[in-house]
Amino acid sequence: MSADLVIEGATIITMDGQWRLFDPGYIAVKDGAIVGIGPAAEAGAFGRSASTGGDASAGGDASTGGDVSTGGDASTGGDVPEAKRHIDGRGFLIMPGFVNVHTHVAMAAFRGAGEDRDDRLLRFLFPMEKALVTRELVHEASRFCMAEMARSGTTTFADMYYFEDEVARAADQAGLRCVLGQTVVDFPAPDAAEPYGGISYAERFIDEWKGHPLVTPCFAPHATYTVDADHLRVIHGRAERLDVPILMHVAETQAEAARFKAPHGSAVRYLDSIGLLDPRLVAAHTVYLDDDDIALLARRGVAAAHCPASNAKSGRPIAQAWRLMEAGVRLGLGTDGPVSGNGMDMEGVLCLFPKLQKVASGRRETMASREALRAATIGGAEALGIAGRTGSLEIGKRADFLMADSGDFNMQPVYDWYATAVYAMRPHNVRSVWVDGRAVVEDGHMTGFDEAEAKGAMGRIAGDCRGEIARLMEEIR
Ligand SMILES: [Zn+2]
Repeated sequence: MSADLVIEGATIITMDGQWRLFDPGYIAVKDGAIVGIGPAAEAGAFGRSASTGGDASAGGDASTGGDVSTGGDASTGGDVPEAKRHIDGRGFLIMPGFVNVHTHVAMAAFRGAGEDRDDRLLRFLFPMEKALVTRELVHEASRFCMAEMARSGTTTFADMYYFEDEVARAADQAGLRCVLGQTVVDFPAPDAAEPYGGISYAERFIDEWKGHPLVTPCFAPHATYTVDADHLRVIHGRAERLDVPILMHVAETQAEAARFKAPHGSAVRYLDSIGLLDPRLVAAHTVYLDDDDIALLARRGVAAAHCPASNAKSGRPIAQAWRLMEAGVRLGLGTDGPVSGNGMDMEGVLCLFPKLQKVASGRRETMASREALRAATIGGAEALGIAGRTGSLEIGKRADFLMADSGDFNMQPVYDWYATAVYAMRPHNVRSVWVDGRAVVEDGHMTGFDEAEAKGAMGRIAGDCRGEIARLMEEIR
């Protein structure tokens, strides 16, 4: 069989149901899908092997592996047609791209603003967004943020914000897979003059983008305390009719927990009482849960987006992710937005995640490396309802993966590839990233847009925002 791309000789973590790992392995891609994966010795079915053909030295192009050939001439491996592109992967780790299940990418424009203040969301963020968020800001800041995400190995992300159609356009340009929720709130928003104007905005957005190969448009009611029960029911009904997910902050803050405690027992039980809990819902944070809430989330098939770095920065308790996973809740990992978690690379969150779970449970054996890596990849895809397409490296799935320089100082030596990927790998190790079979990052840089131009745009946006941010900071001093 001919392939568009064959990478041979890399260590491959598949994250499939059997925890298969090939060292050395190969992966073959055609029309954006994985058509072959296995031990390197079996790569011959897709053309000549790197060890017999061309310049097979591991040195070559140290960034992406030596390009053994870029196609064209006849195969040297009998009558098997040669792959269009053949990469020597020796010295590299290939694994599924990260799935970041909770972000607000456009908030890259505000990273570092309003830090270390109590009640920041209501006192600082909402007023700041009202004053500063525009369609242009969302587009440019989203694109900027996607460079950071893609270059650190994220291939899929789930986002909640305003002007979500601009996030979609930016993602289409960057080449990233995404689930994008248009925000709905009970007050006038940057993209909707009327309270709840986000609902009709979301419907137009979903209508425009549904069926896109990479973008899944959907609803994002902000939270239990910013969208009332009637409107949550309306959103749920429309999400059902349009067959799209719902992204929402759930059981995130102490004030929210206190508000729903007396009338309903908890925020989760309140949502259940109005029919919101079902497999469509991706609940972000889920910090304030009791035993009944965990059982209820599992029973209703709700997915959880766990954001350990962002929660820690807010001084919140450690969400009991290991208990949710043990209960059978689909759970993925999220960075949260650049204002909440600051770093948008999944390596930072992934490295922290099992450590905090061990702290919270008081047991070293809690959240083993491979289980942690699962949450950052296939677990996230399951949470978003797209595990049939992405999240693991298996024949038939879309080719969404990262290639990291595993020979680098911080990654050697390797005795346990899962431990290396979780605790040792850093964003700078990621050299190339493929989404849907397209190289969206090559040699550490974006292929979909000009990085210098994106940086220039962010510089101008930050210049425009600086005065208002300083004024608001003064106000909440
Ligand atoms: Zn959030």
